Amino acid sequence: MAKSNTPYLIVEGLAKHYGDGEARVQVLDGITTTVNRGEICVMLGPSGSGKSTFLNLISGLEGADGGTISVGGCKLTALSSKDLGEYRRRELGFVFQFYNLVPDLTIKENIEVTAHLSSNPLPMEELLRSLGLWEHRNKFPRQVSGGQQQRCAIGRALVKNPGLILCDEPTGALDYKTSKEVLELMERVNREYGCTVVIVTHNAAIARMADRVLRLRDGRLAEDEVNESPVSASKLDW
Ligand code: ADP
Ligand code: MG
Repeated sequence: MAKSNTPYLIVEGLAKHYGDGEARVQVLDGITTTVNRGEICVMLGPSGSGKSTFLNLISGLEGADGGTISVGGCKLTALSSKDLGEYRRRELGFVFQFYNLVPDLTIKENIEVTAHLSSNPLPMEELLRSLGLWEHRNKFPRQVSGGQQQRCAIGRALVKNPGLILCDEPTGALDYKTSKEVLELMERVNREYGCTVVIVTHNAAIARMADRVLRLRDGRLAEDEVNESPVSASKLDW
């Protein structure tokens, strides 16, 4: 197991609002939690509850109003914009609901584009085989299924061997069977490569595979629980 007791992602008093006056929305209102290195953390919350905002703050895409985020001992708010860029390139992988692949690049090229960002990229053939994409490597995204596109997006996030993979509704566009395959892949990636994984979703069933479950409600964490006996992604049901 990749799981450890070493704190890796430490969030303290994180706050974020959008808009002003009557239009003001306090999206995050003092989020405090710690995710250990190698854990799979699932954050649940209904649509509009601030899950994407939370990931955007962790990825340094957006600035917080208050609070701190530290990843692997590095405090994001203390970083210069150059170092923040470096953090994003080296430490982070991002998986989106709609894959965001480049349509004019092949499956292999879509993964390769991020490989050079790492001094220690994963070997391409091994990765493509592990993702089940070896036979499809020279096809374009439109020529493969949604599940294969999402596996390609996971490969793109993974190839630079990041410490942290952030997944925003990674199964939101997939059917039940393909969703499970993608979650099984995330589970295997977590085990084999040791990266910490944060998945945000409105699908409560996915939380059963997590080592840690966060539930976002009204800008706060209504739940922050360690799951002592996570269920294998292959056994999830919804
Ligand atoms: P979720 O991912 O859980 O669906 P989001 O983080 O996308 O939630 O959004 C949380 C709230 O913040 C929503 O009310 C949304 O409309 C609002 N919001 C998100 N991004 C912006 C933005 N850039 N400008 C204004 N409001 C935003
Ligand atoms: Mg969202």
